[in-house]
Amino acid sequence: MSETTIYLDNAATTNITENVLNAMMPWLKEGYGNASSMYSVGRKSAIALNKARAQCAELLGCESREIFFTSGGTESDNTAIFSAAGNAEISGKKHFITSAIEHHAVLNPMKALEKRGFRITYLPVYDNGIVRISDLEAAITSDTSFVSIMAANNEIGTIQPVTEIGELCRSKWITFHTDAVQAFGNIPINVKEQNIDMLSLSGHKLHAMKGVGLLYVRDTASFRPYILGGSQQGGKRAGTENIAGIAGLAEAMRAAAAGLEEKNAKLLPLREKLIKELSQTDGAKLNGDREKRLASNVNFSFAGIEGEALILRLDLMGIAVSSGSACTSGSLDPSHVLTGIGCTYDEARSSVRISMSEQTSESDIETFIRNLKDALRECRCA
Ligand code: PLP
Repeated sequence: MSETTIYLDNAATTNITENVLNAMMPWLKEGYGNASSMYSVGRKSAIALNKARAQCAELLGCESREIFFTSGGTESDNTAIFSAAGNAEISGKKHFITSAIEHHAVLNPMKALEKRGFRITYLPVYDNGIVRISDLEAAITSDTSFVSIMAANNEIGTIQPVTEIGELCRSKWITFHTDAVQAFGNIPINVKEQNIDMLSLSGHKLHAMKGVGLLYVRDTASFRPYILGGSQQGGKRAGTENIAGIAGLAEAMRAAAAGLEEKNAKLLPLREKLIKELSQTDGAKLNGDREKRLASNVNFSFAGIEGEALILRLDLMGIAVSSGSACTSGSLDPSHVLTGIGCTYDEARSSVRISMSEQTSESDIETFIRNLKDALRECRCA
């Protein structure tokens, strides 16, 4: 197997950048103190923790006390949903709304709640991969207490109308959670301006380390902890804090927010080039909305091709792309996101996701397109 020289799977995970590593290093070396300890090496960790929390809060447009650090996107999503479920069990408002194309970190908790007697509405997303506000409005009933709709999809990159959803939910006193794991650093997010009540983030999609993330919670008074244990983070999320990971996350978020405009100005023409060139190949079909998608994402199905076979051929050429969500690889089931936008089984199985980062160059994309055309030819001849 050749070394990966062109990495186009940044929606699966990203590399750790030098600035993030530098932010983490002191807390991996001499700054090993437990942030709950009273002596100086512990107090230094507590100061770093508070500084990181303030920075993350500022970048999201909220208060420090509204940020809880977690182990990543999955824990943040689970926490948001089960916290809302605890409240719903008391109020009796056990109707939750989500979309058909959420990450499994949202869908599986929702399925678990169905078994506990909750009624869950899975909004359709049509062939463009975007929920309609009119559908959300029609789905809301007097027992709806929680809506969870992702800001941007991990497979097809489609961007949901978060601001409109936030406005509608706020007007109906419904808690609105958004999974912004793929969105932060790719599109502007401000929780207060967008009426977001809960938001999940994951470090490893932003050039920070795996195993760290955060949950923003607006109404901390009604928040119910999901991880029970010690009194860390005000008792809202138990467990000794991962100071190095958290310091890295804060720096990654700073860099992502600061570089957002420049990144999109660079990636938009690359995305357009990919769409133009790949559309011209035999049996190609773009998955997801043509315009309302992340500048970093392209997802195509190629008729008659097995996605996995294509990925392995590209791997031999030193190129890393994915055939859908990395979290679902290993499963033979077609992606629920692709079937959710009306793809047939074969179209879903022949899909390839290309996800770029600010490190992606024009020559990476040109090399990728050339190699993809060769790989498609080889797959079809095999
Ligand atoms: N939500 C979305 C949209 C994702 O893309 C992912 C990871 O792929 C997750 C949640 C889970 O995040 P983590 O890997 O940090 O648990």
